Amino acid sequence: MNNEQYKYLLTEHDLPKTWYNINADMPVPLTPVLNPQTKEPITPEFLNVLFPMSLIEQEMSTERYIDIPEEVREIYKLWRPTPLLRARRLEKALGTPAHIYYKNEGASISGSHKTNTAVAQAFYNKVDGTRSLTTETGAGQWGAALAVACKFFDLNLEVFMVKRSYYDKPYRRIIIQSYDAEIFPSPSDRTDYGRKFLKEHPDSPGSLGIAISEAVETAVKSNGEKKYSLGSVLNHVLLHQTVIGQECLKQMEMADEYPDVVIGCVGGGSNFGGIAFPFLYNNFKNGHQTRFLAVEPIATPTLTKGLYAFDYGDTAKMAPILKMFTLGHDFVPAPIHAGGLRYHGMAPQICMLHDAGLVEAVSVPQLETFDAGILFAKTEGIIPAPESCHAIRTAIDEALDAKEKEEERVILFNLSGHGLLDLSAYDSYHQGQLVNEHFEVNQEEILQRLPKVDF
Ligand SMILES: *Cc1c(COP(=O)(O)O)cnc(C)c1O
Repeated sequence: MNNEQYKYLLTEHDLPKTWYNINADMPVPLTPVLNPQTKEPITPEFLNVLFPMSLIEQEMSTERYIDIPEEVREIYKLWRPTPLLRARRLEKALGTPAHIYYKNEGASISGSHKTNTAVAQAFYNKVDGTRSLTTETGAGQWGAALAVACKFFDLNLEVFMVKRSYYDKPYRRIIIQSYDAEIFPSPSDRTDYGRKFLKEHPDSPGSLGIAISEAVETAVKSNGEKKYSLGSVLNHVLLHQTVIGQECLKQMEMADEYPDVVIGCVGGGSNFGGIAFPFLYNNFKNGHQTRFLAVEPIATPTLTKGLYAFDYGDTAKMAPILKMFTLGHDFVPAPIHAGGLRYHGMAPQICMLHDAGLVEAVSVPQLETFDAGILFAKTEGIIPAPESCHAIRTAIDEALDAKEKEEERVILFNLSGHGLLDLSAYDSYHQGQLVNEHFEVNQEEILQRLPKVDF
């Protein structure tokens, strides 16, 4: 007693020097990315309208390790390596023999894991000569992360923020503006697509799919002046997030344990991929049998109830077509508080792994996620992001299952962000105003709206 270890801290010296590219070891064939107009496999030239060549090379690379540029590592040092903690007080509250560990990505300068890729994307755009970026943001975490990264590399930024969040959750908008980025509620009157959508649906609360369309259109119609940046879903984004799992590998070694189960919430799949892929490598190559749980809201049951098919990445059908579990590109989600988990699709890499049975998926109701988040706050002291509450819910359920079976299960989850800018959601919870939004998936209906492709 009294000499129990809680924190596993690395030094700047331990910061990974490379990202891990799971495409080098993917046990199933990679699915093609298609041009939304021709529906043929995409060319680097088409992608170059949206992204700089260096990121396109990463997107298509099958090299196992990709060097992290020194300039990016220098900025990572502002908050990385992030701490790994053993949630001993939560374990005691649950009375579980399980060992619960969590990686605190909420310690980042923007409050979530998203800065890991924002800094890398801003760097490569700068090197390739980009002057301005466009992007979308849901609850604002991605916009905030990219805004600070663009400030560090002296890039202009235009952000299309889902309208409901823009008005209901002003704090991240203010953060984004503090870093000099321009921000507009989406659907907006700044793009052809936004104007058309507003005309048909003047009261639309917006969606990530619509905001992506506006950001993509702005880049496409800029005559090469502006590039587009995406905060999740794509291979290069998940690649950049693997610093999380690589640090965890070292920290679990310091704790002299190895996870039986690794858990992350999934919106587009990037924080989950980031923590899971380096451990999946050990399943592929070193005979480990860790389970991987991707957790989504029952209101956006992409992996658990979506269709595995080629679909557009955005509502206006301008973004590339990806093979993914999808709820349909015109999906408008229920207004749940986990804004980062409301995307209609999912990272193709996560989808391939889930389809192959290598990653499990679970969906959880909103109220239960806040129950879990509040228990976590009361025991560990951190108010978690509503998205991260999904991972916490499932970690707690695993710990309770281990208790029933009297197993000393080792559980690792990703605390993808803190919730200090999501207090209005907690307020609704305390006042009993939160409900368990459901989404009835009609696969027939989704099927009819999918692009017709020959792959
Ligand atoms: C954006 C976000 C998510 C969801 O995005 P992924 O790409 O699935 O990781 C989860 N948690 C937090 C805190 C976020 O900001």
